[in-house]
Amino acid sequence: MVKDVLGLNKGFYTAIHKCIRCGQCAYGKEEVGYEPLCPIHMNRPYFANTAGGIMQIARAAHEGKLAPSESLRDLLYQCTGCEACEVNCGVISGQVEIITLLKEWLKRNEIDYKEEHQLMLGNLMKSRVPYGGRLGPRLEWLGEDGKKAVSSNPQVFYFVGCASSFRETEMAASFVEILKKLDVPFSLSEKEWCCAAPLYYLGLKEDCKSWAEYNVKMIDETGASLAVFTCPTCSMVFKKHYPKWVGGELPFKIMHVSEYIESLMTSGELHLKNRIDKKIIYHDPCHLGRGQGIYRAPRNILGEIPGIQLEEYRFSKENSLCCGGGGLLPAGFPDLADSLGEKRAGQAMEKGPSLIVSSCPGCKENLKLGAKRARLKKVKVKDLTELVAESL
Ligand code: SF4
Ligand code: SF4
Repeated sequence: MVKDVLGLNKGFYTAIHKCIRCGQCAYGKEEVGYEPLCPIHMNRPYFANTAGGIMQIARAAHEGKLAPSESLRDLLYQCTGCEACEVNCGVISGQVEIITLLKEWLKRNEIDYKEEHQLMLGNLMKSRVPYGGRLGPRLEWLGEDGKKAVSSNPQVFYFVGCASSFRETEMAASFVEILKKLDVPFSLSEKEWCCAAPLYYLGLKEDCKSWAEYNVKMIDETGASLAVFTCPTCSMVFKKHYPKWVGGELPFKIMHVSEYIESLMTSGELHLKNRIDKKIIYHDPCHLGRGQGIYRAPRNILGEIPGIQLEEYRFSKENSLCCGGGGLLPAGFPDLADSLGEKRAGQAMEKGPSLIVSSCPGCKENLKLGAKRARLKKVKVKDLTELVAESL
């Protein structure tokens, strides 16, 4: 009997044995001509650099035929968690979780993090935010008017997330603007901690449990029955992982902002009336589309804005290409992250939009950088919430 060094459950054990090594997990579907989609594989086009290759590595580790190493660490940390492998493999599932199990195994075997990831971990432990440098207060962007609008009896808790709190603050301010205009009693908190996604991607699942318990208690104490997120990584982690980490169902509903706004449109509480006369293209964030299956809501919202001409990427929905901002790639391998951002921004130009719209702070940040690198001077990048606030 082989000793279970990776901590595989039955499904993951089956997955590493049933992978048929076809390599299809690295490629898109027929409609995009089976072109590559896996960022690791796009960097180096070998089978080892695919989810299937990593399944074979997991099998070798499980059977005691492979030693932990820094070169394996560097392979695994190129994974953006984009889930293209999960939707393009017709045989197994669980590839992304198996990659994190391998990271946990490396950690248990004292393979150090890359320096940049060690710094990120230090920031998280010190300030509950993955970013370093001088950070202002978490809600600095909210301003005095926003603070006055916070309700002591909220319907909605807005979980802002680190990227919307400290980097892409326009989208946070836009969402608060929407809530204020609609008179929705809402709350948010300076005491919010990072959702713990970076800890998960660092192979520190055990630590995630106390972070999840903290955030759930913080939201629950406000009495809100619904938590809304502008960051799809946060909402995905709350939906997929928090119930496991806190040991049960959460005491409130969870919605990404695109689901929430669509629900308000359906109930007739939100009408988009101001024209935005622009040709735009929508980029599916990996953790919203493949991660949560939300493709329709952002498109329905954009379709309701008068004047908008909505275009689709050739690589869209399940075949969307990661912008490079996912997982821990920008911190560990910034050149790779930048080149993916540049490629994705460049793909938009096949349709000639003046605006790339997404629904994720990480995508907005990386697509802006990508557009700059590609010298796309005439195209801007915005978040869905910003357009909704403009059109409301
Ligand atoms: S993970 Fe799936 S798609 Fe990839 S090689 Fe294995 S069986 Fe094929
Ligand atoms: S999650 Fe994305 S980057 Fe990671 S192995 Fe799968 S396709 Fe590749």
